[in-house]
Amino acid sequence: MYLLELFVFTFGAIFGSFLNVVIYRIPLGLNVARPRSTCPSCKKLIHWYENIPLLSYLALRGKCLKCKARIPFSYFIVELIAGAMALYLFPNSFSFETIIRFVVLFSTVCVFISHFFIDLKHKILPDVLNLYLAAIFLGYALLFYSWKHWAIGLAIGGGFPFLVSSTYLLFAKKEGLGLGDVKLFAALGIYLGPLGIITNVFLSCMLGSIVGVLLILTKKMSRDYPIPFGPFIILAASLQIFFPKIVKMLPLPF
Ligand SMILES: [Zn+2]
Repeated sequence: MYLLELFVFTFGAIFGSFLNVVIYRIPLGLNVARPRSTCPSCKKLIHWYENIPLLSYLALRGKCLKCKARIPFSYFIVELIAGAMALYLFPNSFSFETIIRFVVLFSTVCVFISHFFIDLKHKILPDVLNLYLAAIFLGYALLFYSWKHWAIGLAIGGGFPFLVSSTYLLFAKKEGLGLGDVKLFAALGIYLGPLGIITNVFLSCMLGSIVGVLLILTKKMSRDYPIPFGPFIILAASLQIFFPKIVKMLPLPF
């Protein structure tokens, strides 16, 4: 009865498993396809039965079978989110548009998850992921949006961040925006359009400021230690793209 749902969730979780490889290897400049995964601690090859999404993590209690080194909990979270989002986004009816939309949105989920965890750990948003995102958004926009939507969105997304950077500097008293952030805004502008990308900039600054102040107040972060901004752009864009009803309920000034 729930066979299709189980299949879609498993499909998503398997992608999540691959994203864990992407998150680990891209910042190190390694090939994501080869060689097969090994334990970063003891270098032992990871067998297929140790690599079943979610289940292996639970069965191994988050430890390498051989050397008992801890596998980060984020591996489990990534697989869970990817599975849940595949299920959430899976269309009820099938047409050219709903299928294309699912492929584009699930690809977006994959880039967002990778960006989020890579930026959190390494403070970079890899060009290859921004380019991939821009390409799928442009493909989608050419099919379903007017050129004004994506062209103006792209121009604002690429140009507006300079203003944001100054604003952020004013409120947070530190530089919060790198070139990777600007490229991510530009890519998002293609899909979100002019108003959408302005909303994104506003939302991500709000989220960033709130979390930044909380971290400083709870002394988890010093004022001088820069927190990466990418995760806030990702969170804001995720709300806009996947949960637009929540954004509609927010008291936004426009
Ligand atoms: Zn090991």
